[in-house]
Amino acid sequence: MRLSELGGEAEAAARLMAEAARLAGIIQVNTAGRATKADESPVTLVDFGVQAVVARRLAAAFPDDSLVAEEDASALRDPAAAALLARVVEAARRAEPGVEAAELLDAIDRGRGEPGPRFWTLDPVDGTKGLLRGGQFVVALALVVDGRVEVGAIGCPRLSLPAGGNAEGGVGVAVRGQGSWWMPLAGDDLSPLHVSAVTGASHARIAHSAEESHSDTSRLDALRRALAIQARPVLMDSQAKHVMVAAGETDLLFRFPRAGYKEAIWDQAAGTLLIEEAGGRITDLSGRPFDFSTGRRMTANDGVVASNGRLHQAVLDALARGPRA
Ligand code: AMP
Ligand code: MG
Repeated sequence: MRLSELGGEAEAAARLMAEAARLAGIIQVNTAGRATKADESPVTLVDFGVQAVVARRLAAAFPDDSLVAEEDASALRDPAAAALLARVVEAARRAEPGVEAAELLDAIDRGRGEPGPRFWTLDPVDGTKGLLRGGQFVVALALVVDGRVEVGAIGCPRLSLPAGGNAEGGVGVAVRGQGSWWMPLAGDDLSPLHVSAVTGASHARIAHSAEESHSDTSRLDALRRALAIQARPVLMDSQAKHVMVAAGETDLLFRFPRAGYKEAIWDQAAGTLLIEEAGGRITDLSGRPFDFSTGRRMTANDGVVASNGRLHQAVLDALARGPRA
C-alpha cells in the first residue's frame, strides 16, 4: 500500500514526520547547539528546529487547528541564547531556505496552543537524551479529537524494522479504525504493523526507558520476578518503544512514574494509537484507558503498560497483586 492511499491528515502527518526525521537525522549537535531547561532536562537545536518547521507546515495545511507542543521559544528569545538561535536558523533553512529567525520563534510559540476539542500534539524530539548519546529518539505527532487520538505518526531516524527490510529510519503511522503501518524513510510504501503472538508472560520481551530517572526500575524488577520473565529488558529512549511493541519486536512496555510524575500527552498520544491499531493494548498501570482530554499532562492516568493484548490482563493482575510482590 502507498502512503497516498491514506490521504487526509494521516498522509500529511506521515510526510511531515518523514521530513522531520530526515532533518533531525542529519543535524549535528555540538555544545553551541544545546541548552538546559528549567527542569534540568536538555534541549537542542534539533528540538527547536523541528518544532519550528513542523509548526509552520501544520499552520499552512490546517490553519484552524491548534498545536500543543513540548517546546516554547522563551529561552531562545534571550539575547544570551544568540549562538543557539543562529544554529536553529541554519538548521531550519535546510527545510525552508530563507526563513527568518523571528518567523521561527513565532512558529515555535504556536506550540503553546490549548488542548481543545481538536488539536495536534507534537514532541519535536522525544528522547533528547537518546539523541545526545547516540541512542534512539523520535519525532512524534498526533491528531486528537474529542480526547481521542485519530491519527498518530512517529518519525524514527535511527530505528530499523524487519517490516522495512531493516533499512535504517522510518515512520510509523496509524489511523483510528484503519491500522498501523511502517514506511521506510527512503520510500513511500507502507507495510502493516502487527503486535506479537506471544501468550506466555515468562517469554515476554520488555521495552523500557533507558533513563533510570524516568521510570522506577525497582518496580520493573519486581514485576519481572512476579511473572518469571527471563529476558533482560530492551532499554530504549522515546516512543521508539511503542513502535517496537506495534511491530511485534517486543511484547510489553512499562513506565513506572517516579514521585507523582504525570505523562505529557505528546509522549504517549501517537504511540498509543500505533499500538492499538496494530492489535495491542495500552492503559495506565491500573488498567484505565488513556484520557487525552485533561490538558498538556495526563492527570487522570498513572504510568503506562502496553502489550500485545494477549498478555495485558495477566500483567494488570500481577500489578494489582502488588508491584513489590
Ligand atoms: P523515555 O525515553 O521513554 O524515558 O521518554 C522520554 C520522555 O520522558 C521525554 O520526552 C520527557 O518528556 C519524559 N520525561 C522527562 N522527565 C521525566 C520523568 N521524570 N519521568 C518520566 N518521564 C519523563
Ligand atoms: Mg518527549
